Amino acid sequence: MAQATFTAEDQKIESFRLLSGHTIPAIGLGTWRAGSQADNSVKIAIVEGGYRHIDTAWEYGVQESVGHGVKAAIHAGVERRDLFITSKLWCTELSPERVRPALLNTLQQLQLEYLDLYLIHWPFRLADGASRPPKPGDVQEMDMEGVWREMEGLVKDKLVRDIGVCNFTLKKMNKLLGFAETMPSVCQMEMHPGWRNDKMLEACKQNGIHVTAYSPLGSQEGGRDLIHDETVDRIAKKLSKTPGQVLVKWAIQRGTSVIPKSNNPDRIKENIKVFGWELPQEDFQALCNIPDQKRVLHGEQLFVNKNAGPLRSVADVWDHED
Ligand code: NDP
Repeated sequence: MAQATFTAEDQKIESFRLLSGHTIPAIGLGTWRAGSQADNSVKIAIVEGGYRHIDTAWEYGVQESVGHGVKAAIHAGVERRDLFITSKLWCTELSPERVRPALLNTLQQLQLEYLDLYLIHWPFRLADGASRPPKPGDVQEMDMEGVWREMEGLVKDKLVRDIGVCNFTLKKMNKLLGFAETMPSVCQMEMHPGWRNDKMLEACKQNGIHVTAYSPLGSQEGGRDLIHDETVDRIAKKLSKTPGQVLVKWAIQRGTSVIPKSNNPDRIKENIKVFGWELPQEDFQALCNIPDQKRVLHGEQLFVNKNAGPLRSVADVWDHED
């Protein structure tokens, strides 16, 4: 259940409780493709928008810039302990001996002493210098148990407060739950009205694992333009909200936290104005009924080699569960 917290600007921002007992703010700022503007976007989000949750990853190449933005916000008076900073372990680092050095490098880039959440970015190990699409040998076996033990060690040593995964399937989640001593607190997945992924959301809920919805607006270049979807647009006009707000609110009403990316100050501030009102049930349901369900971030370029495998198709990436 979402609960209310108050930011410095007295804007009511909901949060969700994690299995660990910690809370995650319901909305965070995404930083994929934020580029060199990340520092400014992060600062504006925290100081002017009232965001307390920032989502980044080593692979986005923006961690130093994000770190500058966080530092500027702290200088402006926001307390580190009130922020929720997430980063992710990239595929080349998915072997046990690489986990801790990767996290330490991420902390150094972000200029932080701990992360609130550290996620396995994708459940496939890539060779150093892997090409896109991968050459034979680029996609390798992952020692999931060994990697998870190292992630658990980061929690024990207070370098990260919570650990979790992204882009998992039911099959992989069941495998992880079979040996996890520290449960994954969060599973981050692509979710928006064009790809609801109800199956994974339900499975996570049944296990008490919180879901963060990524690409909530349908993602960026090459994505699905949900901002101009006719159902989204109709509901936005009816409620006097923007399409972005309708999409963010839909995610929160499903019980997921949500991390829209924007580098535009007005849109950053617009996307978080989603508290103190609800999507009426009929509109929520209309968004759940948008046809043509399909993933935008299917992983083909990263992981599929049609001739050499081990992943020969997008269906292989998702364990044939879609
Ligand atoms: P989003 O669905 O958040 O969409 C971002 C795009 O929408 C940008 O082009 C942005 O442009 C535009 N936009 C933002 N707000 C509005 C608005 N109110 N109205 C109109 N357009 C708007 O895409 P992402 O794929 O970036 O997903 C969000 C975040 O999720 C990522 O940034 C990343 O942090 C995370 N993620 C995680 C993944 C994983 O594997 N774990 C994979 C993909 C994403 P502009 O900047 O100009 O406003």
